[in-house]
Amino acid sequence: MSKPWSSLCQRLALIFIGAALLGWMADRLTLALLLAALGELAWQLWQLYRLDRWLNRDPDASLPGSGLVWREVAAHTARLRRQSRKRKRKLSRLLQQFQQATAALPDAAVVLDEEGRVVWCNGASQLLLGLAPGRDIGLPITHLLRHPGFVAFLNGQNPQRDGDSVEFPSPVDDHLLLGARIVPYGKKQRLLVVTDISRVRRLEQMQRDFVANVSHELRTPLTVITGYLETLLDSDSVVLDNWRQPLRCMQQQSSRMLHIIEDLLMLARLESQKERLSHRPVAIPALLADIADDALALSGDSSHRIEVHADPGLWIRGCEKELHSAFSNLVFNAVRYTPVEGQIEIRWWADSGGIHLAVTDNGEGIAPQHLPRLTERFYRVNRDRSRGSGGTGLGLSIVKHVLNHHGSQLRITSELGAGSVFTCDFPLELRVEPEPAPARFGTAYR
Ligand code: ADP
Repeated sequence: MSKPWSSLCQRLALIFIGAALLGWMADRLTLALLLAALGELAWQLWQLYRLDRWLNRDPDASLPGSGLVWREVAAHTARLRRQSRKRKRKLSRLLQQFQQATAALPDAAVVLDEEGRVVWCNGASQLLLGLAPGRDIGLPITHLLRHPGFVAFLNGQNPQRDGDSVEFPSPVDDHLLLGARIVPYGKKQRLLVVTDISRVRRLEQMQRDFVANVSHELRTPLTVITGYLETLLDSDSVVLDNWRQPLRCMQQQSSRMLHIIEDLLMLARLESQKERLSHRPVAIPALLADIADDALALSGDSSHRIEVHADPGLWIRGCEKELHSAFSNLVFNAVRYTPVEGQIEIRWWADSGGIHLAVTDNGEGIAPQHLPRLTERFYRVNRDRSRGSGGTGLGLSIVKHVLNHHGSQLRITSELGAGSVFTCDFPLELRVEPEPAPARFGTAYR
C-alpha cells in the first residue's frame, strides 16, 4: 500500500479508536462512533470541494488538500494537466505548420467525408475551385463542382484516360485546365487533390504542333525527292549505270522518311482533340479482307500463310480510316516479324466480354520485359531488325491511340521464339447492324 493510503488508514484507525474509548467511557459508544464518522465524512467532503474548486477555477494556484491522499490526487492531476497542456501546445504547433504548408501548396486539397461532403479545404481550393472554407464546409462537393466528368470520376466511373485522375476546366476560370486525383485515407475519408495542368497541357500541345508542322513541311520536299529518284531509277540511260546502287539506297531511305512523316502526321491527328473524324458503321470483315490481301503482297516471296476468320455480320461503329490503319499495322507487323512460311491468323468475333480482333503469328515473339513499352513511340525491340523491315517504330503507338478513340484496349501476349498475339478489345456497345450490302466472306485461306 502506498504511503498516503497507509497514513490515511492509520488516521482513521486513531480517530475511531479514540472515539470508541471516549464513547465507552461516557457510555455512548454508538453516538461517539457516529459523530467520528460524520466528522471524517465532513472533512473529506471539504477536501473534495477544495479540489473541485482548484480544478475548475484556478489551476495555477498551489495544490489543495491537507490530507496526504488528497495532495497525492491533486499532484497527480496537476502532472496530467501539465502533460496535456504540453501535448496541446505541440499539436497546435503541428497544426499551424500543417496549415501553413497547405496554404503554401499550389494544389487545391479538399478533405471529403464518406458522403462526399467537404470537411476541410486549403487556400488554393479557393483560387482553383472557388471553394470558400467558411461557406462550403459540410456541402456535397458535387453541388460545388458540377462538371459531368468530375462527378462520374467521384462516383468511380471515370470516362477519361486512366482511372486515376480526371481533367476538367476550372469553375472559376475557363482557361485553367485542372487535373484531380482522389486519395482515400483514415475512416472512409478522401483527400481530393486538384492541380493546375494548363501549362503542362499547353507545352504538350506546342510539342505536338511542332512535330506536326515539321512533318507537314518536310512531306512535300521529300515527296518531290522520292519522285525524282524513282524517275532516275526507271531511266535506261547508261550515264546512270554507276549510280544505280546509290540511287536505290537514296530512294529506300527517302521512302522510309516519308513513312515516318506519314506516321507522325497520323499520330498528331489522333492526338489532336479538335480534329475528330466522325464515326460510322464499318464493315470490319471486308476491311480485314483488304488488309489480308495487302499483307499477302507485303509477304511476297516469304510465302506466309494468312488466315482470316471473321464473323461476317459483325460490324462496329467507328472511324474506318483509323481502324484500317490500326489493324493493318498489327497484320503487317505479324508479316514482318514472322519468318518465311510462317502462320498468321486474323480473328474477328464477339462474345459476352466484348468484340475482339486477334492477330496471331508463330514468329520470333517478344521477351516479357519489352511488352509494357511496345506502344511507346520509337520503341523497338531490335532497332536494326525494325529498320531493315521498313518499320518506323510508330505502328503500335498509332494502334493504341486509335483504340483509345474507340474506347478500346490493346492486349499483347507473346513468347520468345513461339509467336505473339495482339488483341484489340472493343466494347459491345460499338456493335451495329450490317448495312444492306453482301458480306464478302467468312473464312478465307490465302
Ligand atoms: P516498328 O515499325 O518498329 O515495327 P511498332 O510500333 O509497330 O514499330 O512495333 C514496335 C516493336 O514491337 C517492333 O520494333 C518489334 O520489335 C515489336 N513487334 C511488333 N509486332 C511484333 C510481332 N508481331 N512479333 C514480334 N515483335 C513485334
